[in-house]
Amino acid sequence: MIPKSHPRYESLMKREKIIEGFKKGIVAYAGLIAHGRGETFDYLIGERSEDFALEAEEAAVAKMLLAKNAVISVNGNVTALAAKEVIELADSVGAKIEVNLFYRSEDRIRKIVEEFKTLGKDILGANPDAIIPNLEHSRALCTKEGIYSADVVLVPLEDGDRTKALRDMGKFVITIDLNPLSRTAQTAHITIVDELTRAVKNMIKMAQNMNIDEARNILKWYDNHAILAKSLEHINRRLENLSRQLQSSSGLKT
Ligand code: ATP
Repeated sequence: MIPKSHPRYESLMKREKIIEGFKKGIVAYAGLIAHGRGETFDYLIGERSEDFALEAEEAAVAKMLLAKNAVISVNGNVTALAAKEVIELADSVGAKIEVNLFYRSEDRIRKIVEEFKTLGKDILGANPDAIIPNLEHSRALCTKEGIYSADVVLVPLEDGDRTKALRDMGKFVITIDLNPLSRTAQTAHITIVDELTRAVKNMIKMAQNMNIDEARNILKWYDNHAILAKSLEHINRRLENLSRQLQSSSGLKT
């Protein structure tokens, strides 16, 4: 049991959820590594939603509200960390949910579909009937009703190849990725540099308070390269400040 007073309680609880998901057969081995990479970047960012994240989250909500067929793509980590919140977000922006796995196994697909079903939501992806071009077969599988015909796709915690393949299909791609340097972060139209659970919770609130005119206006001014640059500047500034503090106290007896 992790005490709530622990300074890194939130982070440790998320780690527990990933371990639990792994034990249930929802999270893949590689998902454990991907989570660790995310934790590293969250540590560098400061484990909170900064302005560059909130701005991208607002634009993402706006784009999904205006979409004809928005789809949220989920994998094992997303399911383990935030299935309930993803359902709430999908309902508030009128999006579908589809499972897609990097390491596809029918068993994991079934378990993820069941996990959502237990929470009251039917999701797509168990019976694929379409292919994303230029992608290795099992990763390319999708559904006509969902990702294949979507105009806007939210792909949290995604890899670069699939992000590029979706973009090449003409889709508007939104990602949530704590690493602003990843190929996915650099390829997406909107990159939310924030932790998945924090980002989705923020987006649910934003969706409840946004109308169509506001959504259009938000998108008029959105600039993803500027957002990525701000996230890197933030990490840079934070590390410089921490380093300066250490330098100013260096030489003191430990
Ligand atoms: P790419 O192929 O895009 O260069 P990658 O090889 O790092 O990236 P993956 O390991 O498939 O791709 O993707 C996982 C990404 O998700 C990583 O960039 C990681 O930082 C990020 N990530 C992991 N956990 C979280 C989380 N809880 N919230 C947000 N981002 C996360």
